Amino acid sequence: MVNHLYKCNYCGEEYKPKKRGTQKFCKTSCRVNSHQRKKKIEKISMPKLPHTENTTANSYNEKVNAAGIINSALGTGLANGVQAVFTKSENKPATKKDIQDLMIQVKERYMPITNMPQQADGKRPFYDTLLKAVLYLPVR
Ligand SMILES: [Zn+2]
Repeated sequence: MVNHLYKCNYCGEEYKPKKRGTQKFCKTSCRVNSHQRKKKIEKISMPKLPHTENTTANSYNEKVNAAGIINSALGTGLANGVQAVFTKSENKPATKKDIQDLMIQVKERYMPITNMPQQADGKRPFYDTLLKAVLYLPVR
């Protein structure tokens, strides 16, 4: 005969235990609910484990951040500019920036030759560093 009441570990209600000592809950549903709540809490606290935080979680965050930067670059039109450089020769009109880039390439490729006279039509001698040859270009 049980002469004192147990307090349920889940709902906190006082109850008369059927088995002495081992019973912690007033009814089966409280025992099941308590078990499920415990499992849930364990699941939530999982990412706080040190090895998870330092490896998977951080590298994942870095990837997400990189993607975010690319996305914001797309948003500001930076990536559009990059795309334009790749597609301009076929189907996009050259912009002022494109021409400036081209001029820099030309300047780097063609070295003006100062010790050779210019041609009668006004073209000046340049050394083509790519073709490794002297050629005459019109210079205004
Ligand atoms: Zn209970």
